[in-house]
Amino acid sequence: MRIQQILCSGTMQQVAPVVPKTLSKYNTIGEDIESLFNYYILRKRGKIEIKPVGLGIIPSTACNASCSFCAYKFFKGRREFMPLNIFKKAVDDYIKIGGKSIGLTPTLGEVLMDPGFFDKVKYLKRKGLSCSLFTNAILLKKNDNISKLAESGIDNLHFDFGDVFPEYSAKVFGISDSAAKDQLDGILEFLGEIDRRKIKMNVVLEFRPMRPVREIMKDMKKTAFWKFYKKGICTILFLQTYDNWGGQIKKGNLLGIQELKRVPKVKIYPCQGLLMLSVLPDGDVRLCGCRVLETFKDDLVIGNITKDSLGKICKGKRWREIIDDFQNGKRPKVCDNCSFYRPLIS
Ligand code: SF4
Ligand code: SF4
Repeated sequence: MRIQQILCSGTMQQVAPVVPKTLSKYNTIGEDIESLFNYYILRKRGKIEIKPVGLGIIPSTACNASCSFCAYKFFKGRREFMPLNIFKKAVDDYIKIGGKSIGLTPTLGEVLMDPGFFDKVKYLKRKGLSCSLFTNAILLKKNDNISKLAESGIDNLHFDFGDVFPEYSAKVFGISDSAAKDQLDGILEFLGEIDRRKIKMNVVLEFRPMRPVREIMKDMKKTAFWKFYKKGICTILFLQTYDNWGGQIKKGNLLGIQELKRVPKVKIYPCQGLLMLSVLPDGDVRLCGCRVLETFKDDLVIGNITKDSLGKICKGKRWREIIDDFQNGKRPKVCDNCSFYRPLIS
C-alpha cells in the first residue's frame, strides 16, 4: 500500500483528520514535480496508448440537491433520464470490448430521480457486470427504494450526506431540514434492512461535512449509525477538500471546514480522466466522467452510441486528436483550470 493511501485511509480520517486534509489539498505539488521530472529529466514524451480504463453510464442529469461543493447549480444542460434502450446498448457495447464493471454515478445528477433506474440496474446485473454508485439518499424512503436498493445486487454503494444531524446535512446539500431528515432516516433504515436480511453489500457512508470530523465522530456515537458501523455493515469516509469544477467552485461556495484543493500548475501530460468514458442520457460518449463546465455538449464528446458502436467510437480519430492536442499544449476548456487533473505520464 502506498504511504499516501495509508495517510488518507478511513482510519486516519477519523484519528488525525488534518493529515488527509492537508495531503489531499496539496498533493498536486508532488504531481507537478513528478510531471516536470518525467518530462524534462527522464524525457518521457511518448505517444499515449488509447484504451478505456473505465466506463460510467449517466442515468440522470437531474438532481434534487444543491450541494455547496458541486457545480450542479451552474449546470445549463437538459435535465433528463437515459431511455432503457440506450442504456442496454451502452452495456452490450461495453461487454463487447471487454468491459466488466460500470459506474452509475452521474457527473451531475441523482440516480434515484430516474424512474427507470432499477430496470437499468437489473439489466446490467443480468449481464454479469459489477457496478458502483453514489446517491444522496434523499429519495430513499420513497417508492420502496430501500427494498429495491437492498435487493439490487449493486456491488459498491456510497451514500453522500453531510452529517449525522439533519440541520447540518441540510445546509451542505442545500435542502430543507425535512428532506435532510428523510435522507438520514432513509440511510439508517437501509442499513437496518441489509443487516436484518444479511445482505452482503459494500456500503460506504461518505460524509461531506461542514463540522470538524472529531465532532461528528463524537456525535455519531449517540446515534444508530454507530451501531451499524461497529457491526461492520458500513464503512465511513470524510471528504474535507474539494476540487473546483474547472474553476466554477470558489472558496465562498464552501461551508465550515470545507476547503478547495490546490490547482495544479503543470499540465504538460494529458489527464488520466481522458481515458475514462462516460455515456450521456442521449447516447453521447464523452471523455472524463468527472467534471463538466455548464454543459456536457463540449469538446470532450467523441461520438454517439445510437449511431456507432462503442468499439468503433473508441477507434475513431476524435479521441486521438484530443490526447494529441493536450500533449501539444491545446487543452479542452474544462481541463484548463481543473484541480481534479491527474497527469497521465507516458
Ligand atoms: S453533489 Fe450530487 S447530490 Fe450534490 S448537487 Fe451535485 S449532483 Fe446533486
Ligand atoms: S483535467 Fe479535469 S476535466 Fe479534464 S479530464 Fe481531468 S478531471 Fe476531467
